[in-house]
Amino acid sequence: MPSTTPAPVTVIGLGPMGLAMAGAYLEHGHRVTVFNRTPSRADGLVARGAHLAATAEEALTASELVVLSLTDYDAMYALLGGTDPAAFSGRVLVNLSSDTPDKARAGAAWAAERGATQLTGGVLTPPAGIGDPATTSTFYSGPLAAFEAHRATLGVLTGTDYRGENPGTAALLYQLNMTMFWTALTSYWQAVAVANAHGLKAADVLPFARDALNLTQFLEFYTPRIDAGDHAGDVDRLAMGVASVEHVLHTVVDAGVDSALPAAVLDIFRRGVAAGHGADSSSSLVEILKRPSS
Ligand code: NDP
Repeated sequence: MPSTTPAPVTVIGLGPMGLAMAGAYLEHGHRVTVFNRTPSRADGLVARGAHLAATAEEALTASELVVLSLTDYDAMYALLGGTDPAAFSGRVLVNLSSDTPDKARAGAAWAAERGATQLTGGVLTPPAGIGDPATTSTFYSGPLAAFEAHRATLGVLTGTDYRGENPGTAALLYQLNMTMFWTALTSYWQAVAVANAHGLKAADVLPFARDALNLTQFLEFYTPRIDAGDHAGDVDRLAMGVASVEHVLHTVVDAGVDSALPAAVLDIFRRGVAAGHGADSSSSLVEILKRPSS
């Protein structure tokens, strides 16, 4: 039977994300304990009723549910590594920090050695979306029982998308997301840099950037073909792609701005053609990208 009393929550890490998470729990009436390397970041939360733990032990023992929102897993070891292992006993560490699947699995083993359970999370919203579970989502993986026990409390932050027991899975799915996110967003920074060099502003790029970065129709078209091993060049040919990316690179160079990004893209396209995919679709680059770069 679900409890009607909000569960106590500890939030460790008070960057923009941890601040938003602790704030959301305060808004929902949870008893919130916070802990951070730089304690002053907690000032606003303390003014709203949060308790600032003086030590990592105090932070861990204050709540069964401990949310970690740190830059990476090494920050967890830096903050909690010297803590008495007894303080971990029975805790559920919900690590919402970005890191690799291997680091997430190692973190889960580290927690288990101390009698705690790790749930790995990958948050798919910026801090502004925290507290809006209807429109946001977080990947979770780790022991199902721990997830079920805390699903409602985690659901205060974002929607919850449980992906199985392997503690690396949520980290993997999150990194897949970020692989696309950072590269796509950097393409926007690149376009704005070129636009600026021509006297245009970001606001001039935005109206068509929205469409350019909405790749849904391409993803939906190529996905079943890729999974079927079909890279037919009936719609686009990689040789055409090389010429197109060369035009991008030349435009960027002519504008006198940094050209590392289009140069890297062109290198991948050219390797695809060199591997014999010139008449295939650019989706054949998946086959090139499956191999380690030399
Ligand atoms: P930050 O990198 O700003 O988080 C910083 C937090 O980590 C602070 O509490 C900081 O402490 C602590 N920290 C970093 N290094 C150490 C260390 N060596 N020892 C102790 N504490 C350390 O990240 P955000 O708050 O923006 O995000 C938190 C996590 O959420 C990240 O993993 C991020 O990738 C992920 N995320 C962030 C999103 C965003 O839009 N911000 C979106 C989705 C996920 P101090 O205050 O003392 O510096």
